Amino acid sequence: MPSIAVVGAGQAGIVLSAALLRAGWRVSLCSDRTPEELLAGRGRPTACLFGDQVEYEAELGLDFWPEASRMRRIHLDLCTGDRDAAFAVDAPLRKPALAVDQRLKFSRGLRELGARGASVTVGVVTEAGLEELAATHDLVVVTAGTGAGPLFELDPVRCVHTEPQRRLFMINVHGYDLTARPEHREGVFSFLPGTVEVFWVPFHDRDVGESRSVVLEAAPGGRADRFCGVTSADEGLAVLKEVVDELLPHESAFLRPARPTSPVTWIKGEVLPVVRRPVGVLPSGRHVLGLGDAVVLNDPLTGQGANNATRMARFFAEELAAFDGPYTADWLTSRFDEWWERGRHANEFTNRMLAPMTAAQKELILAASRHPGIAEQLWEGFNDPSSLSPWFFEAPAAREFLARCDVGRLDVLRYRLAVAARVVGQKLVGPRPVRRPAGGRAAT
Ligand SMILES: Cc1cc2nc3c(=O)[nH]c(=O)nc-3n(C[C@H](O)[C@H](O)[C@H](O)COP(=O)(O)OP(=O)(O)OC[C@H]3O[C@@H](n4cnc5c(N)ncnc54)[C@H](O)[C@@H]3O)c2cc1C
Repeated sequence: MPSIAVVGAGQAGIVLSAALLRAGWRVSLCSDRTPEELLAGRGRPTACLFGDQVEYEAELGLDFWPEASRMRRIHLDLCTGDRDAAFAVDAPLRKPALAVDQRLKFSRGLRELGARGASVTVGVVTEAGLEELAATHDLVVVTAGTGAGPLFELDPVRCVHTEPQRRLFMINVHGYDLTARPEHREGVFSFLPGTVEVFWVPFHDRDVGESRSVVLEAAPGGRADRFCGVTSADEGLAVLKEVVDELLPHESAFLRPARPTSPVTWIKGEVLPVVRRPVGVLPSGRHVLGLGDAVVLNDPLTGQGANNATRMARFFAEELAAFDGPYTADWLTSRFDEWWERGRHANEFTNRMLAPMTAAQKELILAASRHPGIAEQLWEGFNDPSSLSPWFFEAPAAREFLARCDVGRLDVLRYRLAVAARVVGQKLVGPRPVRRPAGGRAAT
């Protein structure tokens, strides 16, 4: 029976351990904190999982929150500099998404894997600890997230950015007014291109259960970049309300009565997206594999980090279970290269969304506001970013895609004119709500 040591009981570590236990491996799971400490900790990222990843966790018996609200559709408002929603895209997800507080997931996951036979140890794993694990296991996998430090070298070919592209603020809230904006029964995204993106995600919070995790991504130096000085949940929420009143006023009534779910369920900061080499070499010459944020770290703009951690854990669990070893550095690197053929699409999706939208992407989103089938295919990109390739990334492929959906250049022009007329109308007579007709299709 092969043995593996997994360092870090987070998203990747718990999924990988559960899958390899199921495959009959001997698993040592090393966590820097006890289940009680994981549960009692500061708020963690939203970490919304999309359909395939939700299903995989369920298949592994890691779905402990049947009462948590699933996100079954996404409503995206695209706003203009004039504060009003110019148009909306609204469509179902093919499979429900789910965001459960990672404090609950990691604490329960660690306990559960211990009960299933994993040997659980608690304590920060240092370089000396990795050496010991590498000497006593067939393979060591580091899934310590950003806690993995410089163990894995940067891969200059796969890294795209040298600076963070957004300033982030996240807060979990409850007490909001759903009657003011019924769209918030599901996921809502509010984009003011070039200034801010706000994601309002149905969330199962440790303390209050049903809530919303709000993630704000501000362009550095822009009008929404106001959270650097925030030092508490109350202060952060007050700034968020200010930003929403000023830039996204159609969300003000929904947010006004909201309160933080706790004093610690908020995060601010920035992420420098990087890709690292998957195999790290210890001073002894022994090697370890990295998975999850430890090697592929994305800005959370497209919500891919925890999804990617899950996809990677699944891919490697299947590869490892099907191979007799030895798990050499070359073999692990070749497996990672194969993973990257698919995994790179999550990075490409995120990096493209971090950049200003291209003309072809604007056309696609405009067409999606009129054709729910196109919107559904766009939303599928969150679940499986490879499904967006090449039509979301390359202009000729985008036009071919639209043609296959019976949307021609003249149609796009017509949609554009309708949006322009709406924006001018808003300037002259004030905003009209963006309607969602029966069947979910958004109208301009
Ligand atoms: C604001 C924000 C919102 C986000 N929203 C989403 C989203 O909606 N969807 C999505 O897919 N992703 C999202 N993410 C990203 C997502 O949270 C991470 O990508 C994901 O949790 C990474 O999983 P991981 O297993 O690599 O690391 P983690 O989940 O961070 O787990 C690492 C674990 O290792 C432990 N550890 C660290 N160092 C050591 C050590 N030395 N020894 C032992 N244990 C150690 C840590 O305590 C932790 O338990 C978001 C991120 C941010 C910042």
